[in-house]
Amino acid sequence: MYLSQFGYLSPIIRNPSSGMLMSEETLARAVMEFQNFAGLNLTGHLDDDTLHMMTLPRCGVRDKVGFASDSRSKRYALQGSRWRVKDLTYKISKYPRVLGRHETDEVVRKAFQVWSDVTPLTFTAKKSGQVHIEIRFERGEHGDGDPFDGPGGTLAHAFFPVYGGDAHFDDAEKWTVNSYKGTNLFQVAAHEFGHSLGLSHSDERSALMAPFYRGYEPSFSLDSDDIEAIQAVTSVINSFKFISISGLHYWKLTEESIAEGYPKLISKSWIGLPGHIDAAFSYKNGKTYFFKGSKYWRYTGKTMDEGYPKDISEGFTGIPDNIDAALVWSGNGKIYFFKGSKFWKFDPSQKPPVKSTYPKPLSNWEGVPDNIDAALHYTNGYTYFFKGSQYWRFNDKTFSVDSADPPFPRNSGYWWFGCRSATKGSQVDLSSSSNGGDLASSSGDHEPSPSNQYYRWLIKSDHNTNQNQDVGDLILEAAKKRLS
Ligand SMILES: [Zn+2]
Ligand SMILES: [Zn+2]
Repeated sequence: MYLSQFGYLSPIIRNPSSGMLMSEETLARAVMEFQNFAGLNLTGHLDDDTLHMMTLPRCGVRDKVGFASDSRSKRYALQGSRWRVKDLTYKISKYPRVLGRHETDEVVRKAFQVWSDVTPLTFTAKKSGQVHIEIRFERGEHGDGDPFDGPGGTLAHAFFPVYGGDAHFDDAEKWTVNSYKGTNLFQVAAHEFGHSLGLSHSDERSALMAPFYRGYEPSFSLDSDDIEAIQAVTSVINSFKFISISGLHYWKLTEESIAEGYPKLISKSWIGLPGHIDAAFSYKNGKTYFFKGSKYWRYTGKTMDEGYPKDISEGFTGIPDNIDAALVWSGNGKIYFFKGSKFWKFDPSQKPPVKSTYPKPLSNWEGVPDNIDAALHYTNGYTYFFKGSQYWRFNDKTFSVDSADPPFPRNSGYWWFGCRSATKGSQVDLSSSSNGGDLASSSGDHEPSPSNQYYRWLIKSDHNTNQNQDVGDLILEAAKKRLS
């Protein structure tokens, strides 16, 4: 029946061998869950509205899969699996009866573009061979134990990444393009590909990932709910660091080196922010904080929050002005500030947030020099300190700078930026670079060489702290490969 088919009643309850008849209460609860998901009145009875909703054409994927982003409000849900790569391939291995091949190719391309427009993902069509996402138009039973039901009812279903990501469309539907007649293939395909990428159904009615087919919508656009969902899924791919080197510009680090089109002007990207920022970090509340002199600025994304800048003494009581660096320890959410030969721990949950035992000597961080330029904590258990053209990798477990080969400090130009011209080890002639203080001239035609620059701040834009690998590892791996 409908409620068990779409995940509102568990298979145990409908299993006749358990000898347990479904209680009225169980049924009423399931009906109410469905009503809640579908935005109906919560009567707990199979009333006319509810029965009507159950006749609407819809996606065949169950509604209650994975975890909702927030159980209190209506929002997206993630299934829990995701692709580990950002460049995905697909092929249509069985075309529909009622649409031409060329037309189908074009619709599918556009449906993928819906998602590539708001993520770092790319989708490439292939005619043959192995692909990530296989697309088929099928009728009735088609080999996966989830047969299609003819016209209406279930329109399509797709598998989450962990199950392969394939998308199947019921070929008994009259698939159409740009028409109020039939069933719009573009909308249904964009929805199904959301599943292929790891999204579950949203109980937000206006979302593309809502399970019910709403009819042809000539001016289609993703709901903000869908965008938040897919960006939550791709955040690990999306994770990158911004690094400011000259003070006026910032660079975006990708897995390999610096992203194309960088450096950019800080003041152009974070409107209202001055140049020569002292430090910056992203916090688990999704906000990014910038520090300069006696002030700090708070941003949501690239938009400054109202009422900023504020005084450091006001928002970060106990922390001095003109700090060198700041970092968030993602394990405990505490914020560490560094200045000269001292450091402070700021704990927002405590009163006062800075204990009277601070500041403490920076030499407590064994092997880390005074007067650092930037610091960054990774979820891999390492903290990186930058000074001049060098960096130190600090092991959070041993609480000392790692002994490694080559030893720390290492040259950050080589290890972080993939600058083959930079030396691998620690000896760098700070006066040898021809690149002056202004990096604007370095964009484009030659590899940036930060060797006589220093790092003002580093921020991570990835707020997802439960990932065990992040770009930091990838950069290091890439650097290792380069070395060997
Ligand atoms: Zn669906
Ligand atoms: Zn199927």
